[in-house]
Amino acid sequence: MHELDKEEIVIPEEIALIPLRDMIIFPNLVVPLFVGREKSIAALEVAMKEEHIVALVTQKMTELQEPDIEDLYGIGTAAVIMQELKIPDGTAKALVEGLSRIEIVEFTQTEPYFRVKVKVLPEQEDKDIEVEALMRNLVLQFERAASLGKPIPQEVLLATSNIEEPGRLADFIAFHLNLKIDEKQQIIEAVNAHDRLEKVSIFLNRELEILEIGSKIQSRVKDQLTKTQKEYFLKEQLKAIQQELGLMDEQAAEMEELRAKIKAAKMPKEVNEKTLKELDRLARMSPQSAESSVIRTYLDWLIGLPWQKKSKQKLNLKEASTILDEDHYGLEQVKKRVLEYLAVHQLTNKMRGTILCFVGPPGTGKTSIGKSIARSLGRKFVRISLGGVHDEAEIRGHRRTYVGALPGRIIQAINQSGTNNPVFMLDEIDKVGADFRGDPTAALLEVLDPEQNFAFSDHYLEVPFDLSDVVFITTANMLETIPAALRDRMEIIPYSGYTEEEKVQIATKYLIPKQVGEHGLKDKNILIEDKALREVIREYTREAGVRGLERRIASICRQIARKVVEGEKKRLKITEKNLHEYLGPRQFSYGLAEEADEIGVATGLAWTEFGGDVLSVEAATLSGRGKLMLTGQLGEVMRESAQAAVSYIRSRAEMLKIDKNFYSEFDIHIHVPAGGIPKDGPSAGITIATALASELTKRPAKREVAMTGEITLRGRVLPIGGVKEKVLSAHRAGIKEIILPAENEKDLELVPKEVKEELKFFFVKHMDEVLELALRAKSKNGPKSAKAAKKQVSALNAN
Ligand code: ADP
Repeated sequence: MHELDKEEIVIPEEIALIPLRDMIIFPNLVVPLFVGREKSIAALEVAMKEEHIVALVTQKMTELQEPDIEDLYGIGTAAVIMQELKIPDGTAKALVEGLSRIEIVEFTQTEPYFRVKVKVLPEQEDKDIEVEALMRNLVLQFERAASLGKPIPQEVLLATSNIEEPGRLADFIAFHLNLKIDEKQQIIEAVNAHDRLEKVSIFLNRELEILEIGSKIQSRVKDQLTKTQKEYFLKEQLKAIQQELGLMDEQAAEMEELRAKIKAAKMPKEVNEKTLKELDRLARMSPQSAESSVIRTYLDWLIGLPWQKKSKQKLNLKEASTILDEDHYGLEQVKKRVLEYLAVHQLTNKMRGTILCFVGPPGTGKTSIGKSIARSLGRKFVRISLGGVHDEAEIRGHRRTYVGALPGRIIQAINQSGTNNPVFMLDEIDKVGADFRGDPTAALLEVLDPEQNFAFSDHYLEVPFDLSDVVFITTANMLETIPAALRDRMEIIPYSGYTEEEKVQIATKYLIPKQVGEHGLKDKNILIEDKALREVIREYTREAGVRGLERRIASICRQIARKVVEGEKKRLKITEKNLHEYLGPRQFSYGLAEEADEIGVATGLAWTEFGGDVLSVEAATLSGRGKLMLTGQLGEVMRESAQAAVSYIRSRAEMLKIDKNFYSEFDIHIHVPAGGIPKDGPSAGITIATALASELTKRPAKREVAMTGEITLRGRVLPIGGVKEKVLSAHRAGIKEIILPAENEKDLELVPKEVKEELKFFFVKHMDEVLELALRAKSKNGPKSAKAAKKQVSALNAN
C-alpha cells in the first residue's frame, strides 16, 4: 500500500456508496470497515476499480438489512479505501480514511449498488476568538473527562492539543465520545465549525456531568465502603484492646486483691514468701490455664488458714466446773479428771503435754464433754472421725501434683474452725487402720506430739502449720485396738455406761428438755411419765450410753409435735400403757432371769465396744468322735479359751460324774449367739465351761446367774476387764447374781452403789466353785423353788 497524499486526492463527482450501520466515519480518521452486505461489497468492488473512493453514509435505522434511498441520511463522508481484504466467506474488510464531508446530490443508481452524485462540503479553516475559545474549552473538557476516568489513551489527549483546525478538533473529539448514532450524525451535518464545536461541547458537557456524577457516586460508594470497613476494623481492634485491657485490669485487680489478702492473713515469714512466690507465678500465667486454677485454689487455702487467728483464752476453773455440770449428769470421775487437766493447763499456760483420750461405749457423753471443755476454754470445737482412715494422705493431704488434691483432714478441720487453737476431737482413734496405703498412725503421732506439732507438715500445703495451741482430745470405744504408740501419748479417761437410774436422770434433766426444745414444743405440751421412761430404757433400748434413748425421745417428740400442729391443746401424757402407740412393739425383753433354766445354756457377760452385754452360750453334744465345733463368729482368743474349757471338763469328768470318754462318742458344738456379731476375748471361758458341763451332766444352768472369767486348763479362774460395764449390763438385763473372778473384787468400787445393792456377787478362784454356783442339781434332787421347778420341767419337756 502506498501513502496517500490527501491533498492530491480529488473526490470524483459520482462515486459508489456504502451504507453504514451503526457507525459514522469522520473525515481525517482511519477506521476499519467490515463489509458484508452484497450491495456494499459490489460498491466496494467498483470503488476499488475506480479511484478507491466511496461515499460512506449512515442509514437511519440500524436494523434495516436493505435500506432504500430514503433510509439513508443525506450527508456523509467520502473516504479513501486504503486497503481491502477479501475474506473467504465472501465478505471483506477494508481500512478507510475519511476525506471530507459530502452531501448526496442525487442517486444515479441503486442496483446492484448505490451510486451517487456528491457535493464536497468544504472545511472552514479560519477561526475567530469565539472559535478559539470554544476549541480551548473543548480540549479542557476533554482532559477533564479523562481525569474523571473516561478511558482516553494518552496519545489521543496529546493529539487533541495539537489539532489546529477547529472542525477537525470537533470531529476528533466527537469520534472519541460515546455518542449515539443520531448525535454523531448531527456532528457530521454541522458543516459550520463553530456550530460543530458548540455541539460537541454540549455533548461533552453532558458526558462530563455523567462522569462527574459517576465519580461522585463512585467516591461516595468507595467512601462508604472504606468508612464502614475502617469502622469495622477499628471496632474490632478496639474490642481486642478492651478485652486485653479488661482482662489485664481484672487480672491485675485480682492479683492486688490476693496480695492484700495475703498480707491480711499474717502468715509466718516463710509461708508468706512461699505464697508470694506462688502469686508471682500466677500473675505470669494465662488466667484460663488449668494450672492457674490449681494455684489459685492453693492460694485460697493458704490465705484462708487461721495463721494468727485465735480464740481469746479464758479459763476459770470454777466456771469450767459449772459448765461441765450444766451439760452433764453424773460422770463424776470424768469431770474430776477434766478439771485436773484444765488446772494443769492454767498453771503451765500451755496445752502441751498430755492428750486426753476418752474411752467408752457410744453415747456416753464423750463428744459432749469435749464440747463443754471447748466452751469453758472459750474456744471453737471441731471434730473429725478417724474411723476407717487407712491412708496417711487423709490425715496429711495429697501433694499438689495430684489432680483435685486437697489438704488433709487436720488442716481442713482447722480451716473450718477458723482459729488456730480450737478444741480438736479425733474420734474413733481405735479404728484407724494401717495397710499398703500407708500408716496414718505416723501422721497422727506427729499431730499429737507436742515436740513436733508446732510445725505440722501437710503434703498439700507444703508449708508447716503450727498446731501447738490446739487442744487435742481423742475418743475411742476400746482401749485394746488403739495403736500402742498413740496410747502412750495419751491420758486415758474411761467412760463406762450408765445405770438405769442414771439414764432416767439424764433423760429427765437433759435429754427430754433438749428434745422438747429442739422440736419446738413446750412443757405444757408433753409429759413423759417416769414409768414410761423406764420402759423406754428397758424395753426399747439396750445400750451402755444414751444415744438410743435420745433417739426414742426424739421420735416421741416428733409425733407430739405433729399432734400439736394438728390442733391438740391438751398436755399429752406418755404412759406405760400408750407408749407402744408411739414406739411400736417393744424391742427387748427385760429380765432374762425370768426365762426358764435350760440344760446346756449358760449366761455370760461380755464387754464389747458398745459397752457390756449379756449373752448366752450354748453347748450341744451330738454323736460323733470328739470334734469341737465353735460357731458365732468367735475370735482366735475366744476359740482357744473354748478349747481350754473343753480340756478342763475332760479332766474333771470323774468329779462331774460323766463318762470319761464322752469326747470319743460325741462331737461338741459350742455356739454363741448372736451369730452375726463378731466376739472375742478370754472372758467367756467359764461360761463356755459351764454350758458344756450343764449339757454333759444334764444339770440345768441357772438363768438368773451370769458370769465372766477366764479359765485355765486346770480350772483356775483368772481376772478379766470391763467389770463395771459388765455389771451394769447384767443389771440392765435384770440379772440378780453374778459370778466374778476373785481378783476382780476390787473393781466393784467403780460400780454405783444402787446397782451393787440390787445384785448378789460371788467371787471365785476355781471353776469347780463356778459349777457349784451355776448348775442346779439334777431335777430328781428337787429344785430349790416351786416356781423354778415348774419352769425347769417345761424346759425339759421342751428339750
Ligand atoms: P459419745 O461421744 O460418747 O458417743 P455423745 O457425747 O454424742 O456420746 O452423747 C450422746 C448424747 O447423750 C448427747 O446428746 C449427749 O448430750 C447426751 N449425754 C451423754 N451423756 C450425758 C450426761 N452424762 N449428761 C447429759 N447428757 C448426756
